[in-house]
Amino acid sequence: MSLAVLWNSFTKILDICIIWIAIYYIIKNVKNNIKMTLLIKGIIIVLIVKVISEVLNLYTVGMLLEYVFEWGPLAVIVIFQPEIRSVLESLGRTQLLGRNKVLTVDEREKAVYEIMKAVDFFHKNKIGALMVIEREVSLQQYIEGAQKIYADLNEALLETIFFPNTALHDGGVIIQGNRITCAGAVFKTSMNPDLSKKLGTRHRAALGIAEESDAIALIVSEETGKFSIAQDGKLDYNLTTEEFRMRLIEALSPKKEVFFDAKDTDDDEEESAGDNNA
Ligand code: ATP
Ligand code: MG
Repeated sequence: MSLAVLWNSFTKILDICIIWIAIYYIIKNVKNNIKMTLLIKGIIIVLIVKVISEVLNLYTVGMLLEYVFEWGPLAVIVIFQPEIRSVLESLGRTQLLGRNKVLTVDEREKAVYEIMKAVDFFHKNKIGALMVIEREVSLQQYIEGAQKIYADLNEALLETIFFPNTALHDGGVIIQGNRITCAGAVFKTSMNPDLSKKLGTRHRAALGIAEESDAIALIVSEETGKFSIAQDGKLDYNLTTEEFRMRLIEALSPKKEVFFDAKDTDDDEEESAGDNNA
């Protein structure tokens, strides 16, 4: 069998597969959408009438149906404009919220500002919070089990989410770029025996996610109001506001920038991260 024949068969199989996948998704969505079900019924009725008009040679009906076929697709686009938009948005969402999204300097500054304002609020009011910033390693498995939010990152929303006794305050939020993807995420808690016995499950959950991914977990303690950050399998407890802010800027920066500064000592690294983002 020549390469051309093989290629030909492959493209034909691919062609059929794509059509079947498209049909599968259409049927799956049609079941839950009354508007779509009515549309499909309408199309079937029009097709039946078209066949009858051809068999019986009904000239006027046939002519009218020609107009329906000509203008029908346009009408469908107009009627289903909201549905089409939401399908295209959901296709694009993986891109928009993609974990590799690189923030512009302005976006990063805004995200840091919003998180720091919220953290300050949590500190002053002794509200417990756990915010996990996704980096290269996907946190999709935790997002699946959480309450999806997909909202712009802002102070008011963070404060509302962690406000005690509200529906979403338990668990952590996951931040992707400058978006809050979900709340109420439950992470695997760390089994690290070296962790102080004073620290409970919120800090253990933060360390857990920092052990199994490159994410950065920001914690505000409900008991003490103290700030901590878990990163690279380590928990840095009781940071100052400035230390916390610097680490946050670093967390939201593209990894390359961090490598660029890595030749300096640890202290210098923090300073240069600050300079980069000043
Ligand atoms: P704090 O200093 O705020 O009291 P802590 O480390 O002592 O924190 P706990 O007092 O046990 O921790 O905090 C309990 C809260 O931590 C829960 O109400 C929940 O919001 C959060 N939490 C507990 N386990 C997890 C988990 N596995 N994943 C995400 N969040 C969790
Ligand atoms: Mg506690």
